[in-house]
Amino acid sequence: MARSRIYLDWNATAPLLQEARDAVMLALDSVGNPSSVHAEGRAARAMVEKARRQVASLVGAQPAHVVFTGSATEAANLALSPSYRMGRSPLTIGRLYVSAIEHPAVRLGGRLAAGQVSEIAVTPSGQIDLAALEAALAAHPDEDGLPMVAVMLANNETGIIQPVADVARRVRAKGGLLLVDAVQAVGRMPVNIAALDADFLILSGHKLGGPKGIGALVSRGETLMPQPLIRGGGQEKGHRGGTENLPGIVGLGAACEFAEKDLTERNFRIAALREKLEEGIRKAAPDVVIHGAGVDRIANTSFFSLPGLKAETGQIAFDLEGIALSAGAACSSGKVGQSHVLTAMGLDAALGGLRLSIGAATTEEEIGHAIEAFARIAARRRVAGQAA
Ligand code: PLP
Repeated sequence: MARSRIYLDWNATAPLLQEARDAVMLALDSVGNPSSVHAEGRAARAMVEKARRQVASLVGAQPAHVVFTGSATEAANLALSPSYRMGRSPLTIGRLYVSAIEHPAVRLGGRLAAGQVSEIAVTPSGQIDLAALEAALAAHPDEDGLPMVAVMLANNETGIIQPVADVARRVRAKGGLLLVDAVQAVGRMPVNIAALDADFLILSGHKLGGPKGIGALVSRGETLMPQPLIRGGGQEKGHRGGTENLPGIVGLGAACEFAEKDLTERNFRIAALREKLEEGIRKAAPDVVIHGAGVDRIANTSFFSLPGLKAETGQIAFDLEGIALSAGAACSSGKVGQSHVLTAMGLDAALGGLRLSIGAATTEEEIGHAIEAFARIAARRRVAGQAA
């Protein structure tokens, strides 16, 4: 009997949780506009505000400090602005410093001009080079405006956790702003905006079992906010115009509530599965290189390169085996681009890497099948290599 497909690409997008699906279905049947004052409108508003509390709770923020956006990319573009307001006073961001391994949503610098964005190198271990950051901040020309630093909490390709608290200390010393891309971290490790000492966090619904096309910008307070990206009818306290995406918002809220429950137990199980996977693939091909194996990583991600196997070829081979995984990050074009993360880590980006990412629904049996498929693919590679 044919086996059903195995989905091991949760960092590209996670399957929709039943809890999120139920919330979305309810919201689809809600007729009211959350801005309307009648009973239908108030019912819709109540759903939005419940979701705001659920999102805030997951990241240790105040509900009033959550702005819903159409994606994490939009949230990044909202926060990455040269123009802020501190209460009633305008405030200028002179330069943005991003780590070289940021997702393009952040790395491209949002609304800052290309010339105002500096890339900070990462060490071979895949973490932001703190000395390089310190040097860049020391050289920051204060007369241009404040420095802003954007760094991810967990990398989408390697899963490597970044030393955000160390980054924050350096940003504070310079009086700058800190944006943390927590897209891959929320639901996979504890995230608390105050503990990170971040001014802003971004997150995305579809990475933690909510629907696609919903994200949020979470701020530390209400006084310091960027100029809006989308102006309109004053929704989200004027920070993001447009009638709220009610199904998306409640789906995100439900996913956040799920993520907060039993995180430690879930992670424990997921970490054990990854351990089994990495043990299995090392045994099948001792020359496999697991990136970030010795560094702090989120429990669900394994990123590896196999000498003699192009990541693109490997991905297709896994797909033919009935297994969905990624060759690096999912590219909007469907093409497999060279991994800027591997390049930044000083590794051989030409070969690329295969990313296997799992979640709450992944089973031991699925990991077993993935190891068997890996062993077959690795063996074929060796035969081809010998023939050449
Ligand atoms: N940041 C990281 C680390 C991501 O992995 C992604 C999605 O792949 C994004 C930002 C963008 O999120 P969204 O798809 O909601 O725009």
